[in-house]
Amino acid sequence: MRRKIIAGNWKMNKTLSEGLALASEVVNIAQDEVPSGVSLVLCTPAIHLSQVAAILKSADRVFLGAQNMSEHESGAYTGDISADMIKSVGAGYVILGHSERREYHHETNAQLAARVKLALNKGLTPIFCCGESLATREAGEHVGFVNNQLKESLYELSAEEMSKVVIAYEPIWAIGTGVTASSDQAQEMHQSIRASLAGQFGEQVAGQVSILYGGSMKPDNAAELLAQPDVDGGLIGGASLKARDFIQIAKSY
Ligand code: PEP
Repeated sequence: MRRKIIAGNWKMNKTLSEGLALASEVVNIAQDEVPSGVSLVLCTPAIHLSQVAAILKSADRVFLGAQNMSEHESGAYTGDISADMIKSVGAGYVILGHSERREYHHETNAQLAARVKLALNKGLTPIFCCGESLATREAGEHVGFVNNQLKESLYELSAEEMSKVVIAYEPIWAIGTGVTASSDQAQEMHQSIRASLAGQFGEQVAGQVSILYGGSMKPDNAAELLAQPDVDGGLIGGASLKARDFIQIAKSY
């Protein structure tokens, strides 16, 4: 059975006190309200991780993640964060290849391949983001484009490694825009991602990988998206900044 995951990407939002208040509220509400088969992941700004970790210690199914990680183990990389650092503060997940990182920091598929590999070697679960621009979709090239992102960043992994990766399909045109992919568009792409994984790693691995949808998922559209057979959860930006909205999405399963 694939894991159902609702992950919140706080991006560059919340001061420390605001972040701690949000994490506490999520933990308190999640306890009673989130269905037992659903895991939550809070991907906070790196500077908040260690203190949010202390809050999540008492929570059963609320995990902690970083939003980015260096492909280098350590050294002269000012401002970067290593896998060991992320592990050492108690986080178990790391978002890799978010479209904002690809756009503003020019992260490449090859660089992300190294990061995914290093994260796995260090025992972190990568949430690997992929997704096409509007121009690519309008040109009818979205399936091939995403397939190439998978190929260049993930297909050197072993089957065992791949089974530990979480994929987030995030069409760039839907991120932070209020325009959500329709449930048919999401299912088409998730099914094609799973078929591609099956071709490379076999049906068993493809059946194990959780594929999350991201892009303006909100309480009022989550149920329909999460009902799709190949949608195994969500990566939530804006709606993860309010505990009630975030939990409402998790309750939509
Ligand atoms: C994201 O940043 O991963 C995201 C999906 O953002 P939003 O939910 O705000 O579209």
